[in-house]
Amino acid sequence: MASRKPLVAGNWKLNGSLELLNEMAPELKAVAGEDVDVALFVPALLVASSAQQGVITGIQTVSEYESGAYTGEIQASLAKELGASFALVGHSERRHIFGESNEDVAAKFAMAQQQGLTPVLCVGETEQQREQNETESVISAQIDAVIEKLGVAALSQSVIAYEPVWAIGTGKTASPEQAQQVHQFIRAKIASLDSEIAQRLLILYGGSVNEQNSSDLFAQADIDGGLIGGASLKKDAFISICESAK
Ligand code: PEP
Repeated sequence: MASRKPLVAGNWKLNGSLELLNEMAPELKAVAGEDVDVALFVPALLVASSAQQGVITGIQTVSEYESGAYTGEIQASLAKELGASFALVGHSERRHIFGESNEDVAAKFAMAQQQGLTPVLCVGETEQQREQNETESVISAQIDAVIEKLGVAALSQSVIAYEPVWAIGTGKTASPEQAQQVHQFIRAKIASLDSEIAQRLLILYGGSVNEQNSSDLFAQADIDGGLIGGASLKKDAFISICESAK
């Protein structure tokens, strides 16, 4: 079995500041190492500063367009030039607040990859979809949009983050067993197309992860780290979550 190095990534959303970044950067670099990679998805305007301080840095979204008359959009190539190495695509807040469809997300995935960023494809079901037993079909459709556009090989240069919508920012975490079940489903789905890609693929869990629940989640066989929202803004909590992935 391929061994996978865990990745813990903070998603600051529309929060944080240069001051917080300056305070956290040295400690994040110190906790990262052979046993865990640590990354920060900072607001776009902090990408350069984060990368310059040696933190593995991601951008929270990118435009599907390469360049042109698209005021306010974020250019993937420029994020890369400023030092970003990852791009979130399809975060549930982008899907639900900004109306991004599976096809939009696939287009952003393609642009991120084309410009040398590693896309982190966020997938997950709403509470209602879970209650209606649609978890697997919803996640399948979210992943299939990328596979249909780019082929399964594109997943070899990507990360998937399973983030149940009902668990993001709500304080309700999926139990380790619930999360593992979905992670296993995702890996098996991809293995049915290419087993090597599936074995190497990092699948992160996100949704109200904190320093109390992270160890049990990260101990699951198919959970390769986490995407951490609220707790990534608190230095001690985030460091302890990173430690628990080792
Ligand atoms: C997220 O924003 O991706 C997230 C998982 O947020 P939180 O940890 O706050 O639920």
